[in-house]
Amino acid sequence: MPKKSFVSRAEDKWTINDFPQMDRDKLARRLPPITATHFYNLHSCPTRVYLDMHGDHYKRLPLSEFLRQKIAEGVEHERSVLSGLPDLTHIDYETDQEGLHKTLDAMRAGASIISQGVLVHEGMVGRPDLLIRDEGVSIFGPYQYYACDIKSGRSVKFAYQLQVAFYSDLLGKTQGTVPTRAGVILHDGKERRVDLLRVRQRFEEAKQHITSIRDGVKDHPHLCAACKECGWRAVCKEELLGSGDLSLINGLSREYRAAYYNIGIKDITELSQSAVKPSRISQRVADNFRVQARSLIEHSPVLIHKIELPSSQSIIYFDIEGETEQKIYYLLGCLLVQDGVTTYHPFFAEKPSDERQMWNAFLTWIKTIPDFHIIHYHNYEKYALAGLRRKYGCPDELYKTISSHMTDLFKLVKDSIAFPIHSYSIKDLAKSIGFCWRSDTPGGAQSLYWYAIWAKTGDASIKEALLHYNEDDCQAMKHVVEHIQNSFNT
Ligand code: SF4
Repeated sequence: MPKKSFVSRAEDKWTINDFPQMDRDKLARRLPPITATHFYNLHSCPTRVYLDMHGDHYKRLPLSEFLRQKIAEGVEHERSVLSGLPDLTHIDYETDQEGLHKTLDAMRAGASIISQGVLVHEGMVGRPDLLIRDEGVSIFGPYQYYACDIKSGRSVKFAYQLQVAFYSDLLGKTQGTVPTRAGVILHDGKERRVDLLRVRQRFEEAKQHITSIRDGVKDHPHLCAACKECGWRAVCKEELLGSGDLSLINGLSREYRAAYYNIGIKDITELSQSAVKPSRISQRVADNFRVQARSLIEHSPVLIHKIELPSSQSIIYFDIEGETEQKIYYLLGCLLVQDGVTTYHPFFAEKPSDERQMWNAFLTWIKTIPDFHIIHYHNYEKYALAGLRRKYGCPDELYKTISSHMTDLFKLVKDSIAFPIHSYSIKDLAKSIGFCWRSDTPGGAQSLYWYAIWAKTGDASIKEALLHYNEDDCQAMKHVVEHIQNSFNT
């Protein structure tokens, strides 16, 4: 059967016969369609694309409250952007086939803006938020369309660019002319252009990769930061633990894993026993991986060298809650240990506009603490303090005193002791040595969720949960320090 042209595709009703023979075979085998979500997820984890397409969805864990809240915010933002657009043609549909027909009808009629249109081509289905009429020529007449997505983020992430490149590719097949323009509307309701030419090659590579995954090629899972919020984490962890995968070692990236594979080291047992290392990995890093592998195999911490812990009259365990993208901070939590007495001092911004007040209250308080030393976990607190100082100021002498009396507990631990854990987040570390949070789902995402709900409802129990969570983070650091003092520094 001769292939139909784009013109006849757009004009006719679509049936399975519109697909070439090869695609009909794939359809018959019920291969899942490729969608824009696959392009988004490929960027963080190809295994996720595979499991989304072929995995047992009963084994997938439910979304966290934080992610549900993010999705709800995204939907709300989209609704608000759409309500401000004039002359909108909205496509309602039950099936993609029906959606496609209605979209083609709207394009044929020259609609100005089409929302929730459906584009289909050879096993790929795109549902761009907007198709916007533009200057040019297409099979529909002296005009063409370009694709635009609505996102609540603040920048055009690369994953968004891949998504609109995917819609543009489908649009080219549908309207007989490839659009040169594409856009993303961000949190402020303003459209940013996406340079389709610049993203073209990476898009083609991604399309090829996703097609091979759709056809059954599976990428090996790799334990990484993206796993924390991924519904497939239980499935992947089981597989990784079963095979003693190298990614169980904290900090061992996909590239490092491939480098170890190239020299024949394929699991943590082999790594723990081998004296050789890939040339691209420094001796110090390779030694650290080896000792971590040993710790995992022996299920026991391994001391690398003794830790020098700060000794001051006043120790402050310090933890800041904030929103990274917008650089807004809403809680500076201080657990003060002084003369054997522990007290918690939270500095809280009841609303984002109270940030300055919170900062000033913190500075006033810390000035009163004699001979203090701050213990924090990782570099977020240093970064946040510098940001708050830039925004609201701080006397030079005081800032110098604060910043020169700070110790990063994460770095101290990471350099000195290998714990039998896969991540050195304060949650994973403290839990592994017996600390319990009052919340079942502690984490920065949960904190943000609580703050958003508190801002909306003013519910005192939510604020209390947030303060408890922050205090527990500080207590967790104290627990780690005491554990080190008792177990390793005696
Ligand atoms: S749990 Fe991790 S490795 Fe598995 S699919 Fe999710 S992100 Fe990928």
